[in-house]
Amino acid sequence: KKITIAIDGFSSTGKSTLAKQLAKKLKYVYVDTGAMYRAVTLYAFQNGFIDNSSFDEKALIADLDSIKIHFVFNSRKGFAEVFLNDVNVEKEIRTLEVSQLVSQVSAVSEVRTKLVQQQQEMRKDNGIVMDGRDIGTVVFPDADIKFFMTASADKRAKRRYKELLDRGEENITYERVLKNVESRDYIDSTREDSPLVKADDAIGIDNSDMGLEEQFDRVYNLILR
Ligand code: C5P
Repeated sequence: KKITIAIDGFSSTGKSTLAKQLAKKLKYVYVDTGAMYRAVTLYAFQNGFIDNSSFDEKALIADLDSIKIHFVFNSRKGFAEVFLNDVNVEKEIRTLEVSQLVSQVSAVSEVRTKLVQQQQEMRKDNGIVMDGRDIGTVVFPDADIKFFMTASADKRAKRRYKELLDRGEENITYERVLKNVESRDYIDSTREDSPLVKADDAIGIDNSDMGLEEQFDRVYNLILR
């Protein structure tokens, strides 16, 4: 039977790494919902609706129908890349700039309604692994298995910092990354509309001191059970 796997948790807890591993092993579709919120944020930024000091929510809401997001599987990379109005934005959405604005954009309920609906339609008859913040609570409350990932803010910021450095980002410091991780956690968990909370039936995974293989084996065994 093809199942639905929901992976939620705080930023930079390795949700997407785990989700990709699982999708590959099970030959399932993987959907990175964070990429969708990031793409909407990039759109808002490119159109001058948001920057570090202001956010014109109304203008973004009025424009929501002109935002088209879709994924295209890249077989070389082994996962689907996100497109914003037919442009591949996989790289642009991962900058610290977008990371600093995305929580504000994803707190807009009209944005959430649009993206949640699109996410629900992506399941069709597929086996699916979806990661995000509200998959087990809002998008697929009926998911067959749910995971909720956590790790200390310090560990997460270290991983993220390394990732950004590897990607060649300039002008970043560990302190800035830590601040971003903490402020996103705060906004994500306190927003009114579908806040970041663990579903009652989700299995908690704290990977502060867990290697990738150990984590995968543990989760995979839980799925097979
Ligand atoms: O997973 P990632 O860190 O790329 O997500 C970026 C941001 O998108 C999160 O900080 C959160 O504000 C938002 N998000 C969300 N709901 C989801 C996935 C992501 O609000 N399901």
